[in-house]
Amino acid sequence: MYEYEYRRAGTLEEAAALLAEVEDSRPLAGGMSLVPAMKHRLARPARLVDLNAVPGLAFVERTGSELVIGAMTRHEDVALSPEAKAAIPALAVLAGGIGDVQVRHRGTIGGSISNNDPGACYPSAVLGLGATVHTTRREIPGDAFFTGMFETALEPGEIVTKVAFPIPDAAAYVKFHNLASRFSIVGIFLARFGRRVRVAVTGAGPCVFRASELEARLSDDFSPAAVEDVSFPPDNLTSDLHGSAAYRAHLIPVLTARAVQQCLEAG
Ligand code: FAD
Repeated sequence: MYEYEYRRAGTLEEAAALLAEVEDSRPLAGGMSLVPAMKHRLARPARLVDLNAVPGLAFVERTGSELVIGAMTRHEDVALSPEAKAAIPALAVLAGGIGDVQVRHRGTIGGSISNNDPGACYPSAVLGLGATVHTTRREIPGDAFFTGMFETALEPGEIVTKVAFPIPDAAAYVKFHNLASRFSIVGIFLARFGRRVRVAVTGAGPCVFRASELEARLSDDFSPAAVEDVSFPPDNLTSDLHGSAAYRAHLIPVLTARAVQQCLEAG
């Protein structure tokens, strides 16, 4: 690990000021991705600004037609939240399937989406539900938030404060996961708003993306049969020790069909 300075912010304003003061400063949330990256010398922040003592960033609440989750809310708290389970059960399922107990008790939604790991689960929910990411500077539509592998629309020093998820008529998250880490080899977040269907795919490529052909078919006919025979092109998908691009391409319609089935069974 390279040398770095550690500062603990007491307010959001203080956190923003501490980040602005030193170039290459980074917020520290659960530390589940950032600290291992620093240990392996893959990240070299000059200053870490710890958000853990900042009040008001950890909550799950329903406001009208949205479920709003504070950036510092731990995965385990979303998994167990009665509000999440009632409004968007798929989101609670997603959070409960992340990593192991330790990761779920430390890791946060803000850290997960800001990190934008290609195999992370939450980015698919943000994209699949068309959520809005709120930051210290602006509101960013989910469709514009994830810009590439480990890259987002966030500017240096910008802090995610909360994520607002529109409540769909039905949703499901289905992932084929790495047995050791539980990161997605392919994960599908599917949401239906009336006849409009959104399908977000994580794990399969360098960055989460929407599967527009599957969305169009399901908007016409919301049934597993509408997608299970689709031949998904493997171009631009990932090949690694966990699976080839062709294998991942095969999994996309298969898991999407299972997600549809889950929505139908849930009524
Ligand atoms: P940190 O590690 O503290 O930060 C990550 C990055 O986000 C840093 O660059 C940091 O500066 C930035 N950041 C943090 N908070 C903010 C904020 N509010 N605003 C702006 N930038 C911010 N994830 C999955 O989705 N599915 C899995 O199955 C899974 N399995 C895992 C298994 C293991 C063994 C481990 C170690 C991790 C796993 N993860 C998995 C990742 C986990 O979900 C992490 O919690 C998440 O990636 C990062 O969240 P964090 O709160 O720990 O962020």
